[in-house]
Amino acid sequence: MQRIGNILEQLERNNPHAVNLQQTWQDILNYPPIHDFIQAHQAELSQEMIENSRSKLNEFKREHEAKERGEEGQNPGFTPELILNGNYIDVTYVPTETYYRWKAEQVRHSLLDNRMMSRDVRQATLRDFYVNTPQRQYLLKQSMDFLHAYEKEPYATQALYIHGSFGVGKTYLLGALANYLVDRLEKHVTMIHYPTFTSQIKNAIQSGTVQQTIDEIRKVDVLMIDDIGAEANTAWVRDEVLNNILEYRMKESLATFFTSNFSMEILETHLAKTKDSIDTGKAMRIMERIRYLAHEVEFNGENLRQAKRQGN
Ligand code: ADP
Ligand code: MG
Repeated sequence: MQRIGNILEQLERNNPHAVNLQQTWQDILNYPPIHDFIQAHQAELSQEMIENSRSKLNEFKREHEAKERGEEGQNPGFTPELILNGNYIDVTYVPTETYYRWKAEQVRHSLLDNRMMSRDVRQATLRDFYVNTPQRQYLLKQSMDFLHAYEKEPYATQALYIHGSFGVGKTYLLGALANYLVDRLEKHVTMIHYPTFTSQIKNAIQSGTVQQTIDEIRKVDVLMIDDIGAEANTAWVRDEVLNNILEYRMKESLATFFTSNFSMEILETHLAKTKDSIDTGKAMRIMERIRYLAHEVEFNGENLRQAKRQGN
């Protein structure tokens, strides 16, 4: 029986375009990376093996040329390479730097949900956290202490309840902590802007996704509740949503951060008061959970938002 390679060769010989095909084959063999590969593997390669690799070498040349032209080719993010595969030369596709960067970014996205945050907070780093006042130094130290303790004992480390005036950098600090936890410790982190979240969860009633949303949020490794106290407080969100989330996190000892314009004491008053009633018992219950999960740190100082606008 005639082998397919021989048949093709015969076909070529009988073909009026055989000269062209011969030319193409020569081009393939002379293509520098192919030429180099064959040279480097001379000892292992026979003429027949090379001929049997014709379609693979053709594929390699096509893909390699596309890359050289800056095009993506058939496997975006991968670069073609030649290898010896038994008795023929094969093409494998090796991930490029761009692919690894993209992949790392994908992993990051799956770990971190900070979509509710502004860009500066999403890009915040502890390295850039200003330490120009003793209070800011103290806060950075508290944050670092948390991270070190959390790395060792994730289920026994109390997080922070940062309260202070508007614009000092509370949310920025949470953003920096979130990035550290994701990048260095590979934790799942969710940041919610509490006033936005409360209005969204009310909409989720209509779409029937309340329970699913609560489930996702309460189970995450680290939850950051930003600006608690700035929401329009309702009994339903407080008792069915917030209480539910915090109760679970307390039971499971999951790290939970808060920022607020209010101290814990004032937050308690805020949580007690809804449109139609005052319920100190319910507020106290929430505060118990918050106190268990986080310790209070005060953060006051210059309003950086204003300073930024004035170009200071
Ligand atoms: P708060 O949450 O306390 O109201 P933000 O965290 O929103 O304040 O910070 C106010 C502004 O100051 C934001 O524009 C933020 O990006 C900026 N900012 C805060 N801390 C820093 C910092 N360490 N480095 C750079 N910008 C900062
Ligand atoms: Mg804020």
